[in-house]
Amino acid sequence: MSASRYPDLDRTALAAALEDARAGYAALAESGLALDLTRGKPAPAQLDLAGPLLTAVTADDYRSPGGVDVRNYGGLEGLPELRAVFGELLGIPAEQLLAQGNSSLVLMHAALGFSVLHGTADDGSSGWIRQPQAPKMLCPVPGYDRHYTVAESLGFELIPVPLTDEGPDMAVVRQLVAADSSIKAMWAVPMYSNPTGITYSEPVVRELVSMTTAAPDFKILWDNAYALHHLGPDEPAPLDVLGLAEASGNPDRVHVFASTSKITHAGAGVAFYASSPANIRWYLHHAGQMSIGPDKINQLRHLRFFQDAEGVRAHMRRHAEIIAPKFQAVLRTLDQGLGGLGIARWTRPAGGYFISLDVLPGTADRVIKLAAEAGIALTPAGAAFPHGLDPRDENIRIAPTLPEPQDVQKAVDGLVVCVRLAALEKLLAA
Ligand code: PMP
Repeated sequence: MSASRYPDLDRTALAAALEDARAGYAALAESGLALDLTRGKPAPAQLDLAGPLLTAVTADDYRSPGGVDVRNYGGLEGLPELRAVFGELLGIPAEQLLAQGNSSLVLMHAALGFSVLHGTADDGSSGWIRQPQAPKMLCPVPGYDRHYTVAESLGFELIPVPLTDEGPDMAVVRQLVAADSSIKAMWAVPMYSNPTGITYSEPVVRELVSMTTAAPDFKILWDNAYALHHLGPDEPAPLDVLGLAEASGNPDRVHVFASTSKITHAGAGVAFYASSPANIRWYLHHAGQMSIGPDKINQLRHLRFFQDAEGVRAHMRRHAEIIAPKFQAVLRTLDQGLGGLGIARWTRPAGGYFISLDVLPGTADRVIKLAAEAGIALTPAGAAFPHGLDPRDENIRIAPTLPEPQDVQKAVDGLVVCVRLAALEKLLAA
């Protein structure tokens, strides 16, 4: 491996390196791979960990500890015992946390949809859709593509703001929200963010909940999807965002979401909504017009499977045992294959589901096409940006959890070949 930085090579050296890279790529393309690093899905071995969940409620054993027959309608708030377990884990009083259906994305869509149609709890005026200007949503980038789809489908204009290692760039956020009253909301993945893996620092969180906003009904969609998904021995507790918001005089600013999608069975877990007492009443009022109640059978299964908060923590350590080696393999391979070449940088997450790779600007799309032609599927270029547009064409999201360890290794070995080839092509074309 050459340790010289590619951008410092003269044209002759670049041309020689390009010839090597082409030969490497030809060999890769001939090796007949069929690998997929696209979506952050749990591996089958992770799903197996929750196997006993499927038989935790039976035909003759269907009452919750509080005596509720979970087979029947009712209980819109969710089972109190499960709310208490996840309230403890998320640092939220159980009264302010609802256990709902199978998907937190649905809850995000609902909370935004209620605001668009009916208005928020703290602002008696009509829904955002009836206001003179279409509502706008701040989107820290790179971010989660499905957040953009949800907001766009509800009529929001998406405004990208840069994400730093500490959270959204607050100089940009502060100025935007102070100036424009049609900026009604903002996405946040505060822990082990999708895709960079960063966690918002306490000063950033304090400023988000306290900053002055032109919109009196500004909301933060606090998607704590990865709050419990630590990869190593450090298990930081989530910050008490609702308490901080209340102490700042903005108790109703934050809608919190979480789910067990990547804890038990993806798409068949339990999703949670948490917020201030006023927002909980607001949410229950509108949710009650949408549903008679959530799937309490599934909630009871989860309660019995985990027993308590420590049960969830122990379970998450078993997940980490399965996926941490895959993350380590990706990082080791990127370090060895791209370190020191001056053509890429990547994140080293302490939790979550993704590694974010920035390649030489202007080459991400080319890298992903080269990889696809060699049988390695990656998330499409630009997917982590609103409208799929990465202005620098440099970001690639790596999702290492689903494939077997040896396939993760092969896929990242191949990715390194593609990143080098695309960079050399670009540098020689300059
Ligand atoms: N939020 C984030 C940040 C995610 O990465 C994901 C899953 N990829 C979700 C939400 C989806 O959650 P759910 O299955 O609860 O809808």
